[in-house]
Amino acid sequence: MNWQTFLTEQREAFVAAHPRSRDLADQGRAAWRGGVPMHWMRDWASPFPLYVEHAKGARLTDADGISYDDFCLGDTPSMFGHARPELHRALAEQAGEGVGFMLPTKWSNRAGERLNERFGPYGLTQWQVATTASDANRAAIRWARAVTQRPKILVFDGCYHGMVEDAFVTLQNDQPRNKPGLIGQVHDLTRTTTVIPFNDLDALEAALKTGEIAGVLAEPVMTNCGMILPDDGFSDAMRRLTFRYGSLLILDETHTLSSGPAGYVGLHKLRPDMLVIGKAIAGGVPAAVWGVTAEVAARMDDAQVRAGAGSSGIGTTLSGNALAMRAIAVMLEEVITEASYAHMLRGAERLVAGLRRVIAGTGAPWSVVHVGARAELIFAATPPRNAAAMRSVLDHDALEAYHLYLINQGVLIAPFHNMMLISPQTHDDAIDRLIEATKAFADIWLCL
Ligand code: PMP
Repeated sequence: MNWQTFLTEQREAFVAAHPRSRDLADQGRAAWRGGVPMHWMRDWASPFPLYVEHAKGARLTDADGISYDDFCLGDTPSMFGHARPELHRALAEQAGEGVGFMLPTKWSNRAGERLNERFGPYGLTQWQVATTASDANRAAIRWARAVTQRPKILVFDGCYHGMVEDAFVTLQNDQPRNKPGLIGQVHDLTRTTTVIPFNDLDALEAALKTGEIAGVLAEPVMTNCGMILPDDGFSDAMRRLTFRYGSLLILDETHTLSSGPAGYVGLHKLRPDMLVIGKAIAGGVPAAVWGVTAEVAARMDDAQVRAGAGSSGIGTTLSGNALAMRAIAVMLEEVITEASYAHMLRGAERLVAGLRRVIAGTGAPWSVVHVGARAELIFAATPPRNAAAMRSVLDHDALEAYHLYLINQGVLIAPFHNMMLISPQTHDDAIDRLIEATKAFADIWLCL
């Protein structure tokens, strides 16, 4: 048997078990380009997408009545569990009181206070809201340029920060390029974005030394090309170097909020100039926050004066709507709590230990890394230190086979790579089922 034979069997099993999703997928094609309202929904390993009937906690039920242990959690917005009653109540109430005013509410003040309580200790005290993490990152980049009066931003090869044109660059044979497949981009992004390998302090210093870099936009742990942990001391050195050369450090914690109640910044006592958090911050209600230090806020005021009268061109109508603000407040007050993280981190330890036992027991040439409640199984014995190394070990057939096998076993992980997220409502037996299914897959892998 090879992967293709295995995949054919798995696809047949999936099709046989999902007649209702199949009918719905056929209907969906009539109106939606590619059959789905958002094209990433096509990225699952299944021949057609599962149609969701409902989800609660860390369980999701599809249109065929099949229930799954959900470790994807919507690719993070539902990191704290689906259909949280706290959020449900708050949204229902706010929907009855109105959602779009272009005015603040007492809830927006409460959300701001909660953000300051959490992130103020790391210097971040002035906030704005965007509708998505993509928008928040775009705003942060624009302000970084305005504040520093420098033209370029720097990102790490393999990054993803959302629909942020500036960040769609990659290294191909060590050369900066627009990312392959990028649509509708008229100028060469490498003129205004510098891209370097993660964990490469020499390259970072060389780029910063040019004096052209307005800001470094980085995830503290890279989570979008598999997971790549920073080397010991890398984050602190990145902070020191950006400070020394006058570039702003913009940390995108959209995924690494999995680290703890104040994200990776809180866990490692980092002090970025700007911080971005999307997705889970409002429990999946479209909203993202970005915060800056008092010093950056003052420099933003100066930049605004320099720009003269008129609009900054930064902001969207729905940002800060009452529903989003209420959601952020209730998530920070009642859901994104120490108690939630205690459960999530314990669960992640159980998962990581279990996966490592599978690797040790079967001899599969794999490894596991994690950032708090977010774990990643890597099909390579040594976790790569940068995106080029990660790309060189990617085995697309094996990934597709693992994902589809898991779906057929009643387990969902994020469709993009082997990301597994533990929510406060993920039970140990679900974690054990994922470990067991992975062991069975390792046995299949080793027979091929
Ligand atoms: N930042 C990071 C680190 C992300 O992974 C993503 C999306 N996966 C985004 C930003 C963008 O989030 P959104 O698609 O909600 O704008």
